[in-house]
Amino acid sequence: MRTSQVWNWIYHRGVTEFSAMANISKSLQKQLEANFIISRPDVTSYQISEDGTRKYLVRFRDGNEAESVFIPDEDRGTLCISSQVGCTLNCRFCYTGTQRLVRNLSANEIVSQIMIARDDLGEWPTPTDGRKITNIVLMGMGEPLYNFENVKKAVLILRDPEGIQMSRRRITLSTAGVVPLMERAGREIGVNLAVSLHAVTDEVRDKLVPINRKYPIHELLSACRDYPGAHNARRITFEYIMLKDINDSDADAKKLVGLIHKYELPAKVNLIPFNPWPGAPYECSDWERIEKFSSLIFKSGVSAPIRMPRGRDIMAACGQLKSASIKIKASERKKL
Ligand code: SAH
Repeated sequence: MRTSQVWNWIYHRGVTEFSAMANISKSLQKQLEANFIISRPDVTSYQISEDGTRKYLVRFRDGNEAESVFIPDEDRGTLCISSQVGCTLNCRFCYTGTQRLVRNLSANEIVSQIMIARDDLGEWPTPTDGRKITNIVLMGMGEPLYNFENVKKAVLILRDPEGIQMSRRRITLSTAGVVPLMERAGREIGVNLAVSLHAVTDEVRDKLVPINRKYPIHELLSACRDYPGAHNARRITFEYIMLKDINDSDADAKKLVGLIHKYELPAKVNLIPFNPWPGAPYECSDWERIEKFSSLIFKSGVSAPIRMPRGRDIMAACGQLKSASIKIKASERKKL
């Protein structure tokens, strides 16, 4: 009963001090205070894009930082959260990959990114309908499956009916393809799966997504086929970055469809126009090329929408996150 009360204060009302928990006795409040922290980490930079996208740079208690991004749309709001400070994968097109891995985020630090966004969006107490954050994607900094236990714990709090109360259908985990953990992710974390495919041959994928040298395309797609819970109503999303003259030919599009059919995957494709960053070795494909690529895939019966870049002006788009934005003080943030 006490646990339910405390969870209700934390996740339904968003309080950040035990002393605000009116139905908890003073002595228990004191005891909790002496043992636990529920205050938020600091937001050291807060930026709003001209398209309404918001980016938060969160500083954790040891001084390490990670970013999260809120992307409002007409019919939904997606919060993109980070699972690690930095990343070990070194994908050549990704800005985060230029930053070395510092550490995994704890479950509390992962969940705190949602708490911070809800503070900012005024979502306390949890609205019964019309929530601003309708979807959560683990697509920020880091490889979530390399931080399996903490990501699992955080997602279970997100899904818990007494926690953040998000349906697992509205939570998506994106992986570059940590094949040995994919099946466990489906079974134990139970969320939608997105896979950063980005190339249709091992030769190209080895260069773009170096983890491919360990787990090549055949192993990756076999693991996708076996992913628990994937079926036509709950498709796996293949993320495919559009890089000029690297992976964007008609032949690549046809090969992509061929692979989806060969492995009999309940899949959809998300085409991501490459988001540039300082010193990036690639260019984004031309717009006509992206549209042609998309229509070739559509014609073969596979959905392939283009993910419109959001928040590029504040470096908040896919692959642009790095814990080194311009810092502004919390007091200045309030004025924004
Ligand atoms: N490590 C996980 C989570 C990161 S998700 C993964 O690889 O899936 C971030 C998504 O943005 C991935 O699909 C990633 O490949 C993509 N991405 C990275 N850099 C990008 C860039 N510069 N432009 C567009 N998309 C990018």
